[in-house]
Amino acid sequence: MEKIRVRFAPSPTGPLHIGGVRTALYNFLFARQNNGTFILRIEDTDQNRLVPGAEAYIIESLTWFGLIPDEGPGFGGNCGPYRQSERKALYKQYVDKLIADGNAYYAFDTADELEAMREIDETFKYGIHSRMSLKNSLSLSAGLVEKLIKSGENVAVRIKIPANESISFFDEVRGHVAFDSNELDDKVIMKGDGMPTYHMANIVDDHLMKISHVIRGEEWLSSTAHHVLLYRFFGWEAPKFAHLPLILKPTGNGKLSKRDGAKFGFPVFPISWDSEHEEDNFTGFREDGYMPEAVLNFLAMLGWSPGNDQEIFSIEELIKTFRMEKIVKSGARFDIDKARWFNQQYLIQADNLKLAYMIQNQAIDDGYHVAVEYLAEVCALMKERVHKADEIIKNSRFFFEAPNFYDEETIKKKFSLEQVDHLLEIADKLNNLKSSDLPQIEITIKGYIIERSLKMGEIMPIIRIAISGSMQGPDLIQTIALIGTNEAASRLKTGVERFKSIKI
Ligand code: GLU
Repeated sequence: MEKIRVRFAPSPTGPLHIGGVRTALYNFLFARQNNGTFILRIEDTDQNRLVPGAEAYIIESLTWFGLIPDEGPGFGGNCGPYRQSERKALYKQYVDKLIADGNAYYAFDTADELEAMREIDETFKYGIHSRMSLKNSLSLSAGLVEKLIKSGENVAVRIKIPANESISFFDEVRGHVAFDSNELDDKVIMKGDGMPTYHMANIVDDHLMKISHVIRGEEWLSSTAHHVLLYRFFGWEAPKFAHLPLILKPTGNGKLSKRDGAKFGFPVFPISWDSEHEEDNFTGFREDGYMPEAVLNFLAMLGWSPGNDQEIFSIEELIKTFRMEKIVKSGARFDIDKARWFNQQYLIQADNLKLAYMIQNQAIDDGYHVAVEYLAEVCALMKERVHKADEIIKNSRFFFEAPNFYDEETIKKKFSLEQVDHLLEIADKLNNLKSSDLPQIEITIKGYIIERSLKMGEIMPIIRIAISGSMQGPDLIQTIALIGTNEAASRLKTGVERFKSIKI
């Protein structure tokens, strides 16, 4: 059987959109489940649109997710170089062949001339109906063409789309797709600087890199007609195509854009991107406290369905279960609440120490210089109560410092001056405990309450508020055990003083 080889082929024109990560993921899953090869190819032929740092960003993002290419720039492989700009010299012979065979031609129109055409007619297409009235090697005399080529100015090469044909192909997601060749434009395949355009470089490389399946976003569907023609002109077998559904805005209206992150208040990029211009700075899922496994699981389900109601899939399970036939045709709505839900499921399962390392920098930034083992214990108590790792510290400052505000409403309702002596006595007892182990703390507090015939439901909330400031939080006894009985005693004493003044 033919070896499965797939590629993820981003253009380094900015940070990698989360939709690009989904494309990479589906390619990766398909490669892994077929013992195939997952290739990273950097499509950087459009030098005007290159953005410094974008390639490094792409690689860092893939690495964070564990979607490590088998071949690619810096990853080895026998079909390199994997950066198209480094393959420039290689494309010319293929362009020459197309010209020699009458499947491509030189065009000399300037950008301004073409712009003027578009101004007259906004549906203007360089193609079957217009090419003979434009400046190219089909319409001009051989002598003039030779002169213009020699001059070297504005010499582009365009594909010559044949008239009156239905260009069709089978798409693994959409089934049979056909385009009327009369509707297609004669796209530029090589620019004046000798750099091929996306279409040319893409199919030459897919052929030379022996790509078996092209799995990419739906926005490339209409280009596929051009690609199919190019394969035919070269007499090469085309790879199989699968076009993934669009990722839609949370409202379901239109494609999710990079600006939607700021608009809706969630990340649309895998990791943060810092730019010189503030409006182009983007927060990433990583920095926003998401776990890579959770984001991958979320993305896997954004456009694919296993056919039953299982939602949680480890990457190994995805590799086993993922089926190209189950990719959906319609756009997939980006629902951040679903991403948060996935993240919560993974947080609950996550190793506490691993989580601790994830939030260690945040703790330090907030001035909490605690041992990572301590952070791990905080994570153990908090992870079920949050959706994202960054919320652990935000919602549990009482593990790191005494509360600086108290839930006054509950104090007014539950606290009475008769409790003062009891609370201080409990504080003393906690202070005198030799160890901070759970049963000891529990017996000390609850035992005292029972012994003095007090009400659990009145004393416990007040202790809790003294310790953590509010009624929210993990189990009180476990919280005291973690911050330590002396610290708890001291907070209780401080709290009692404050509560007295709140009550009065
Ligand atoms: N360079 C294209 C992009 O940036 C790749 C499209 C394809 O996979 O063919 O998305």
